[in-house]
Formats: sequence, structure tokens, C-alpha cells
Amino acid sequence: MEFYNKELETISRKDLEILQLKKLQNIVNSALKTPFYKERLNGIGIKNGLDLTKLSDLQKIPYTTKDDLREAFPYGLLSVSKDEVVRLHASSGTTGVPTTIYFTQKDIDRASELVARSCFCTGSRKSDVFQNVMTYGLFTGGLMLHYGAEKLGMLVIPASSGNTSRQLKLLKDYESTVIHATPSYLLHLYSKMDELGYSLKDLKLKKAYIGAEPHSEDIRKKIEKLFNIDAYNSYGLSEMSGPGVAFECEYKNGMHLWEDYYIAEIIDRDTLQPIEDGKDGELVLTNLEREATPLLRYRTKDLTRIITGKCECGRTHRRIERIKGRTDDMLIINGVNIFPSQIEEIVMKTPEVHTNYQIILRKAGELEKIIVKIEVTNDVFSDDTRDLEKLKAKIQNNIQSVIFVKPVIELHEPGSLPVQQGKAIRVFDER
Ligand code: ADP
Ligand code: ZN
Repeated sequence: MEFYNKELETISRKDLEILQLKKLQNIVNSALKTPFYKERLNGIGIKNGLDLTKLSDLQKIPYTTKDDLREAFPYGLLSVSKDEVVRLHASSGTTGVPTTIYFTQKDIDRASELVARSCFCTGSRKSDVFQNVMTYGLFTGGLMLHYGAEKLGMLVIPASSGNTSRQLKLLKDYESTVIHATPSYLLHLYSKMDELGYSLKDLKLKKAYIGAEPHSEDIRKKIEKLFNIDAYNSYGLSEMSGPGVAFECEYKNGMHLWEDYYIAEIIDRDTLQPIEDGKDGELVLTNLEREATPLLRYRTKDLTRIITGKCECGRTHRRIERIKGRTDDMLIINGVNIFPSQIEEIVMKTPEVHTNYQIILRKAGELEKIIVKIEVTNDVFSDDTRDLEKLKAKIQNNIQSVIFVKPVIELHEPGSLPVQQGKAIRVFDER
């Protein structure tokens, strides 16, 4: 097995913990330079990083939330002078006002290093041609992956998002071997290939990094099958410098979370107390090395669990399960709690389903109803209408057996439901 940085990627758990404590003490000192953390940490008697003498002392520190970042906007969480800052990025604003993160040159270098390590662990190498189909701009998915891919030495095509026909032309002309995109956009790209005059034979793609939005295992499998490639789950968030927080290795069995840069905790969504490995909860991250915007115990709102046990690749960093959704993705329909990912799993497992779907919530008198619009392949429409009804009933029953609410199913032609350039928006709450 090859590594980008063998020493750090295969570090023993004992040495990792020693390293984490040392870095934690340093990052607490950086955090103390911000008005926000100075008040907060002094309030619980922490005046110096050395006041934390063991890793578990981290648990004395209160969580940092997206709202804290919003309140400290624009510069309340900046721990260095503006002279030292070379860039800012902001979150996409999926759940409200975007949050801002600052980078010194060293922060950019470190984040790029982690992305390079992440790309390498999927088997990508200098010889690859990498097409980056994430939006360039304030969103970290474009520029931060770009810098990491360059650091690894791949030939980078900064395609940015959108313009499907141009994306296909770039893929073909430069014989791109690796693509980075949202899973929803990749599926869209596939569905447009034929119409735009391309076929799989025109492409040399071997791998995709898919991330930025929740997706089920079945979406991954669909992408792999349609393009005949390997697709690797890539997780990151702007608050933690963007992509490269956790990435799948060649074994594709959960994402290694780079624990020499991040301390991960999983907390119970109700009690907010840390819970043991293997149990589902909200991911909380502490970044261990960042000069400009150190964040301690940041509540990501992302739901996952730690996968216990060793990975065959030999990396010792623990893995997280694919993100099930955000805590605020949960829908309550007629009093029943539902995650959109539960519906997606059923939809994407159905062989007749094409590449897109939508969930719509509406009032229906006193009650509420859930409508699932699904694109199905053209063959389905050429079948007998009785078969269409049968297919609808099959999907309806399968969804009902998981969410305990009977959905209304609408079948649509391929390519007829809207797609987004950035993160997919699939739930429309019209109540
Ligand atoms: P925003 O929080 O406004 O969407 P970001 O651009 O920082 O802004 O996006 C980070 C979020 O995107 C994560 O917190 C997570 O919810 C989602 N995300 C990123 N990568 C993945 C992934 N591989 N699987 C599921 N969700 C992801
Ligand atoms: Zn591994």
C-alpha cells in the first residue's frame, strides 16, 4: 500500500493522541487571541492551552455553533492581524446566512496538503488529469480542491460548475481521468450525454470524488455503474477549511477522518453528550491547526457515526460513515420524523429509476401529504400503462414500509426535473 505521508497516515493511536494533545494546547492558545474564545474560555478557567492536560479536557469547552460564527461576523473569530490573512471562504449558506473562514498562507498550505493526501488515498496520482466541476468562488469545493490536486501534481482543469456540454467537451478533449462533482450533477451529466452527442467511449474517466451533499450508497453505485468508474465519498465543510476533512480510501468503506488535523466527537442529538464509537449522532469537530480561524468543538449538524475496527488500507485514522443528512434536514409529516435520505435509498434502489427525484410536502386539509416525483427511464413509458401503475405501487409500498407514511408517487420522463449547479435541492416544503 502506498501513502502520501506514511508516518502520519499510519501513526499509532498512542502517538496520535500525544500529537493531538500538543496541537490542542497550541490551538487553544490561538483561540484565546480572539475576543469570542477569550471570553468563553476564561469563563471556564482556561487562560492558557496548557490548562488542558489531557485530551478529555476538551470536553470542558462549550460547543461552537454556526450561530456563534454568525454573531462573530465579520472579524470576531479572527485570531491573527488582517495583514497575515491571504484569503477568505464562506459556506454555501444552505441553512441561512453564510459563515466566513479566513486563511493565512500557512492555512492554505496545510489544507492543500490534506486534500493532496485525500486524493492520493483514492489511488489518484500525478499522472491523472483532474477536472474540477465544483463552483469556484467563495465555496471551498472549487478552489480548495484545486490547490490540493495541484499539490499532488495532477494536471488540473479548473472547469467550475455548470455548462454540461462544455464539461463533456473538456472531459473528452483532455481525456480527464478524475472528476470532482456533486453526485446529483454527475447523474445529470450522464443523463445529458446522449443528447449532446457523447458516449462513454469518448471518456477516459476512472474515478470521481463525490461530495458536498448527502447521497446514499445506491447513488454511488449508480454513478459507478453508469460511468464504469470508482466513486469516492469526499466530506468537508467550509468551517473546517473545506474538502479534505474525511475521504474514502480505495476500500470505499467509510471516510478516513484526518485525525492529526481534526478531533472528531459524536454527540447525542438530544442530550448533546459525547457518545461511544459506532453510535449515530452529530459530528463535532475541533480543528487542530489553523492560524486564522481556530474553531473548537464546532457542531457540524451532520449526522454520522464512527466506524469501529481497522481499515484494510493500513491507515490508522478512524472512519466516519457516509453522512445521513443534517440534523435540520429532518422532516416531520403528520407527526412522523423522516429523513429525505430514507426516501432516496428506496428510490435509487429501484432499477427503473433514472437519475433524479424530488420530494414535495403539501397541506391536504388537516393532514399533510408527501409527493415523490421520480424520473424513470424511457423504457418504462413504452410499457403498458398497467405496468406504470404497478411500478408506482411498488415504489409507494417500499417507501411506506420505511417511513410509515404513504407517499403519492409521480413518474416523470428522464431529464424533466430541475437540477442545480451546486448542491442539489430536492425537498420542497410547501406547507
Ligand atoms: P453549507 O453548510 O452552507 O452547505 P458548505 O459549503 O461548507 O456550506 O458545506 C458543508 C456541508 O455540506 C457539510 O456540513 C455537509 O452538510 C455537506 N456535505 C459536504 N460533503 C458531504 C458529503 N460527502 N456527504 C454528505 N454531505 C456533505
Ligand atoms: Zn482505508
